[in-house]
Amino acid sequence: MCDMRMVDEAKWIRPKKDPGNAAPQFEKSFIIDQPVRKAVLQITGVGIYRAEINAKPVSGAVLAPGWTSYRYRLQVQKYEVTGLIRAGSNVLTVVLGKGWFRSRLVGRDCTVTQDQLRANSAGIIASLEVERSDGTRIFVTTDPTWKTYESRIRFSEIYDGEIYDAAMEETTELGTEVYAGPELHLIEQQGEDVREKMRIPAARRFFTPKGELVYDFGQEITGYVETCVTARKGDRVDLSFAEVMDPQGNFYTDNYRSAKSKYIYICRDGEQNYHPYLTFYGFRYIRVNEFPGGVSQSDQQSFTAIAIWSDMKRTGSLITSDQMLNQLISNALWSQRDNFVDVPTDCPQRDERLGWTGDAEIFAKTACYNYDTERFFTKWLTDLKLDQHENGGVPSVVPDLFPGQRVSAGWGDAATIIPWEIYQTYGDKTILARQFDSMKAWVDYITEATDTPGLWSGGLHFGDWLGLDAQPGSYKGASRDDLIATAYYSHSVFLLIKAGEVLGKDIDTYRDLYDTIVRSFRRTYTDYRTQTEYVLALYFHLAPNPKQAAEELAELIRANGKRLSTGFLGTPYLLHVLSDHGYSDLAWDLLLRKEYPSWLYPITKGATTIWEHWDGIMPDGNFWSPEMNSFNHYAYGSVCDWLYSKAAGIGPLVPGYRRVRIQPHPDRRLSFLQAEFQTRAGRIVVSWKRTTAGFRYEIHTPAETEIILENQRHIVQPGHYLFFS
Ligand code: BGC
Repeated sequence: MCDMRMVDEAKWIRPKKDPGNAAPQFEKSFIIDQPVRKAVLQITGVGIYRAEINAKPVSGAVLAPGWTSYRYRLQVQKYEVTGLIRAGSNVLTVVLGKGWFRSRLVGRDCTVTQDQLRANSAGIIASLEVERSDGTRIFVTTDPTWKTYESRIRFSEIYDGEIYDAAMEETTELGTEVYAGPELHLIEQQGEDVREKMRIPAARRFFTPKGELVYDFGQEITGYVETCVTARKGDRVDLSFAEVMDPQGNFYTDNYRSAKSKYIYICRDGEQNYHPYLTFYGFRYIRVNEFPGGVSQSDQQSFTAIAIWSDMKRTGSLITSDQMLNQLISNALWSQRDNFVDVPTDCPQRDERLGWTGDAEIFAKTACYNYDTERFFTKWLTDLKLDQHENGGVPSVVPDLFPGQRVSAGWGDAATIIPWEIYQTYGDKTILARQFDSMKAWVDYITEATDTPGLWSGGLHFGDWLGLDAQPGSYKGASRDDLIATAYYSHSVFLLIKAGEVLGKDIDTYRDLYDTIVRSFRRTYTDYRTQTEYVLALYFHLAPNPKQAAEELAELIRANGKRLSTGFLGTPYLLHVLSDHGYSDLAWDLLLRKEYPSWLYPITKGATTIWEHWDGIMPDGNFWSPEMNSFNHYAYGSVCDWLYSKAAGIGPLVPGYRRVRIQPHPDRRLSFLQAEFQTRAGRIVVSWKRTTAGFRYEIHTPAETEIILENQRHIVQPGHYLFFS
């Protein structure tokens, strides 16, 4: 971990008097007596801050300093602010909300760790370095001369939203005191900035059967709503947020569970624009509970949704002749945006929004096609490594809020799978070097934890989470825990060996271990009983007779009416194993199916993001459950990596796409499909179009490429090619 040093004069400061729920505002006035050559602000805080110089934000980044494992490290941002400083008097203001650091996170009650973190004071540390035209430098640093007030933000939390009082006249001084600051390392910002990426006007406005006024933004997003209103002082805007309407068409918030997600704005006189900025919401709809002059006074222009996400570079796109498939692709893209808000989260709306390792592991490959995630994941994997238990166990959520608790197969394997995926996609082995010890510790953990050497038996796993073959009342699919755990164990050891080879490490003992696991698996699991068991045995090369296993899997799916029954762990690889073993038709059958259960079914119900459950809204219109029913969980969006890598056929022949492999798996039910992918080596474009006789393939590649079409292998140099089949 690389420590960041602030100038010595900068001290941690906090309000002397506890501001309670109000966000404190720190302020420092200073005079600049010469023109400015350069000014740089370094700053961080315990919560989420917004810094302004002369009432202008210091950057377009929001939700800074971001979410890291606060037991260990806190990012410091560095902003070039030259243009904001003027000759004469200036003022630097910092408002600090509770953020991830001090809000309640997880359910209703916090864990011990959370309580300890939340007990930290609302403190900031900052240093503004101003270089004057004569070359001399002055520093404006946090110290006891700063003033601290209660800000107009009366309440601000991650799950519960924000209350802002624009009418507030008297500000209460809280006093400022210097203190030691939180016990952690300050580090330079490692992740991407989170930014406001898109403004979305309301698509429609309607009254529900209950008579409530609702606005629909037409897209589920993570972010907030800007209100534009003309009001009298003391008037209120009060909004609620929701993902879906209930079966009767009424506004529905039960699935947010204990997350209040409120937004109350108390107006001043006149015309005003405002949006919260120290919290975020996951929503498509808002209900107007109060509005100046009565709710029906609000109009289409009163509200604009603002979508935020980590500012990654877009690298991939897919388009097909099938509109529903295009909507599925869009839904996965949006679920990535909505859940890549500084850390990869399960969902952005209910009282979780946590960095579930399994969800990230499942979706990582799709994520790497859609966006350049190297920096984003490098930061999160550093936290994973720091949060890893002493015995190598990988927590189920990172940053970890339940230290020492459940370690699960498929979740912990994020430690090996994601670094390998990043290396494959971007070709830089630094990620493997950074994570190697963590990968190894994870594998060693399993070796120690298992009840039976060579297998991973015992333990408390999430299993094939939400698999459709679950017993009534259970979240776990029917696949055997020990089979799943051993399959992942083998895969993690396999990836550790690969990483060790790249890095030139001595990994002979792991080669032996791998052979032992494969042998033990084959000896112990001589039959597979569920779709997911087949999928894992095939995808991880454990089935001794893959041809036969694939045939049996295909049969099992057909016998199930060509319906999938897989959960979190089987689903990502299901279509891969089918197309890898000559069952592309069946893979396309599953993908293009519109009835429940299927990927396209939620689209028939109006989904704009990927659902947590195959049947979040059941065919009869009722909800699966109020308890666990997110409409924005990216896990099943992992099917997009099949579209990029199998349907279009784009993959790296060597890491970083310095050599490319293109092997499309077209289907005649589509008249065309086109995929573009911006690799570090250049842009790849693959499109196929149905012709009367077969297909026309158009391929653009920036590197030497192996093209496989109809079992024929062509090696081509960078360029543009046409093929027909
Ligand atoms: C989360 C999941 C997560 C799971 C663990 C849920 O509450 O939303 O996505 O992976 O718990 O089983």
